[in-house]
Amino acid sequence: MLLTDDLFLQYLRCYRRAFLEVYGDPEQREAPGDYLNKIISDSSFHRKQVLQDYTHVRPEYDRDDLRAGAAATEALMAQGVDCIYKGILLSPGAGGLTLDANLEYAARPDLLVRQIGCSKWGDWEYEPAQIKLGRRPKLEYQLIATFNVWVLSDVQGNMPEATWLLLRDREPFDVLWEERIDQMLELLEACGQMLSQPLEPEVFIARNRCGLCDWQNFCHGIATQTQHLSLLPGVTPKRYAYLQELGITSLETLRQTKPKSLENLPGFGPDVSQKMVDQAQATWSDRALRSRVVPMPPVMRSPVELYFDIEAEPDLGIAFLLGVLVVDHRLGTEVFHAFVAEQPDQEQCCWEAFFQFVWEVHGDAPIYHFAVMKRIRCGG
Ligand code: SF4
Repeated sequence: MLLTDDLFLQYLRCYRRAFLEVYGDPEQREAPGDYLNKIISDSSFHRKQVLQDYTHVRPEYDRDDLRAGAAATEALMAQGVDCIYKGILLSPGAGGLTLDANLEYAARPDLLVRQIGCSKWGDWEYEPAQIKLGRRPKLEYQLIATFNVWVLSDVQGNMPEATWLLLRDREPFDVLWEERIDQMLELLEACGQMLSQPLEPEVFIARNRCGLCDWQNFCHGIATQTQHLSLLPGVTPKRYAYLQELGITSLETLRQTKPKSLENLPGFGPDVSQKMVDQAQATWSDRALRSRVVPMPPVMRSPVELYFDIEAEPDLGIAFLLGVLVVDHRLGTEVFHAFVAEQPDQEQCCWEAFFQFVWEVHGDAPIYHFAVMKRIRCGG
């Protein structure tokens, strides 16, 4: 089997997604929606802008013939071409380290840039670079950059000194691959093992990663059919792992669970435990439990509350300001946070920053939108 950088990236985002890429029924996969198409078009624009700074050569090969692509790429590297765009690198495992005898690894760095150094062809070597639309050097990008280094080292006979992320509106980010390589190899081995057998990983709907996935409807259908706990607000992957340890894997068991028995689990506490069981009971009986699910402040006031509003430009279809007032009753503070898209193409980053803020920083806080009496959940 060929384990490509794309497949490894999917694995880093969601094990199940990598599995479906290999074993899934392509009929179940959806075409990209408007939002994804917008990201693809923004990425393409960013890519064109970056490429203006590099005089590059593109190896010629049939798109689906990776072996021909690898041969064409290596021929250009052997000639010492300054910069190669969309080259392909194939390796059975670098430095004599073969993780799995049945696997071969394929890296497709956006750019291979020639540097002074040492390779099997002479006194030059190549450094890989990835072009990414985001502004943050996400861990998953850094791990893929490290994977590229690892495969490239086998092809050119030398570990490159650096590997780069070419992010939007940022200086090139130098990935410290030496610090990532052990982690990358461990994950790569786990990825190879998972893909070597057709055992479908359990579905888990996580709004921040499933929203842009081609398999979303398919997975959501399974989750709905099985009443999977990940559909309940507040059941995060970490919390689900703790519930699993207690044998609580179904709506029925969760609704019968005493909230007190969950309170001491990391990331739970009395409030989360009570609400999680309430949610399970409400979903099970298909009716809202008004006394707890929609409590009237201040009877069950949360320690932190978020008041959220949106300013949009309907003609352009753009939300340019996401404003959140964070009311912390413990500290007696009220702090306003504005997430502003000053240009239309910043809308996505603005949304991501807002989402990260409410989900990661204040994941347990209720969000009030427009009317203080109406209470919604983050992502719900
Ligand atoms: S929809 Fe979600 S769970 Fe399903 S493959 Fe995609 S990211 Fe994974």
